[in-house]
Amino acid sequence: MAECLFCKIRDGEVSADIIFENDECLAFRDINPKAPVHFLVIPRRHIANLWDTKTSDEGLLGRIQLMIPKIAKDQGLDSGFRTVLNTGPGGHQEVYHMHYHVLGGGPFTGFN
Ligand code: AMP
Ligand code: ZN
Repeated sequence: MAECLFCKIRDGEVSADIIFENDECLAFRDINPKAPVHFLVIPRRHIANLWDTKTSDEGLLGRIQLMIPKIAKDQGLDSGFRTVLNTGPGGHQEVYHMHYHVLGGGPFTGFN
């Protein structure tokens, strides 16, 4: 059984509002949204953060980033969005399964 919260969401052991999934990534709404639209995009495979990536992950990382504008468009973020990826304590990372934050749709609150 996975110990990681986002692996549990991936495996359906913890519920989440999933808005997109394919064979290598998953997007779900942030439980504590800092903007009218705030979702997270994770690789299905457990990768802790960018420190945990290898050259062999370059295709995966590129394909996930290429999915983000498509998911953002589906979520109505026509005027743009912010993408954030926190790494380690210095980046204020709280959940150690790599995730892109995608925010938009109005004012941001309390996002550091
Ligand atoms: P970070 O500080 O980059 O690690 O961000 C972790 C994010 O995960 C925060 O924005 C949290 O609100 C969000 N989060 C924590 N638990 C859940 C959950 N069960 N479902 C959805 N989002 C979550
Ligand atoms: Zn994980």
